[in-house]
Amino acid sequence: MNKNDYRDMWVFIEHDGETIQPVSLELCCEIRKIADAAGEKLVAVVVGTLPESETEKLMETGVDVILRVSGTGYGYFNVDAYANLFTVLCRKYLPTAVFVGGTINGRDFAPRFACRLPTGCTSDATELVWDPKTTDIEFIEPAVGGKMMAVITVPVMRPQVGTIRPGTFKYVPTGKRPCSVIEETVDFPEAEIRTRVLDFKADDFDESLNIADADVIVCVGNAVKVDSLPKYRELAALLGGKLGCTRPVFDRGVLPFKLVIGQSGVVVKPKLYLSFGVSGAVNHVTGMQDSGCIVAVNKDPDAAIFKYCDYGIVGDMDEVCEQMLRHLRR
Ligand SMILES: Cc1cc2nc3c(=O)[nH]c(=O)nc-3n(C[C@H](O)[C@H](O)[C@H](O)COP(=O)(O)OP(=O)(O)OC[C@H]3O[C@@H](n4cnc5c(N)ncnc54)[C@H](O)[C@@H]3O)c2cc1C
Repeated sequence: MNKNDYRDMWVFIEHDGETIQPVSLELCCEIRKIADAAGEKLVAVVVGTLPESETEKLMETGVDVILRVSGTGYGYFNVDAYANLFTVLCRKYLPTAVFVGGTINGRDFAPRFACRLPTGCTSDATELVWDPKTTDIEFIEPAVGGKMMAVITVPVMRPQVGTIRPGTFKYVPTGKRPCSVIEETVDFPEAEIRTRVLDFKADDFDESLNIADADVIVCVGNAVKVDSLPKYRELAALLGGKLGCTRPVFDRGVLPFKLVIGQSGVVVKPKLYLSFGVSGAVNHVTGMQDSGCIVAVNKDPDAAIFKYCDYGIVGDMDEVCEQMLRHLRR
């Protein structure tokens, strides 16, 4: 295998026929910068058709090429057709890297086509760095329970495949560039798809559980008492924000998993992040450290969270919360 035979960086554009998954657009914005540094093209791989408005949004990220694929087998997401498709496309076009959003679908098919090619796949990266000396991508992610950051490369194989956690990068489109469209047809025999959609039920969507885009987050840690939760909910509401939590709060069955912030939960970037009784473990911090302003309340002056905050308050969380409520209610 000669690395020099491989060119261009691909982003898989996950969509439901109407809307592109935010992570795909976030990735296009980030990979645009890396592709520029590497002198390569940014290629968006779209399976099926997108509404014009979504194609516009995609082009605003500065993609150079849209590789549009049609064919049988892609009527709904299934790992058999998608893993086969990317194996076929990568063998034909030889991209240097393929970036896939770390969604349920992305995590399912990316390692499978990487294995078939065969090449390396890094799962759940939270940072990407292009090394000009080696021309390798460094996929960086928390490891050993968040105690260290692992830098993973695929130094001898191509393409370099990776899934990237949603919310890791920002959607900051840099504007349209001249963009060409390549049409491809790759059929997958539908009889070989091992799953069948019998019924479709939309998730009952509770907007209060969607914290990824909240401007203000009040995050409660393991020290929270169940009886005190209404206080923190009220504080979040008065600030026009939402409640979030650390992993142990979910483990105790106090709040749902969708509110967990961190490595195994959601990555958030609110304008204001207020934490109460949160120790500041790396697994949590990786999910909130890019917040605009971080305020931490902890009774332990040596708590790690104070290393990451703009304002630290040493004190009892319930007392501090009540004082804040008194001011805000006025
Ligand atoms: C693979 C892996 C993935 C993980 N993913 C995540 C993740 O996505 N998100 C996440 O949050 N965690 C995650 N964790 C767990 C993480 O390592 C920590 O255990 C967790 O973040 C600690 O949560 P905490 O700070 O709420 O609790 P604790 O560590 O128990 O800290 C509680 C804090 O509350 C303070 N406190 C106690 N009483 C009061 C009081 N009355 N007033 C004020 N302060 C008080 C204490 O001083 C302490 O600092 C993960 C762990 C692993 C191994």
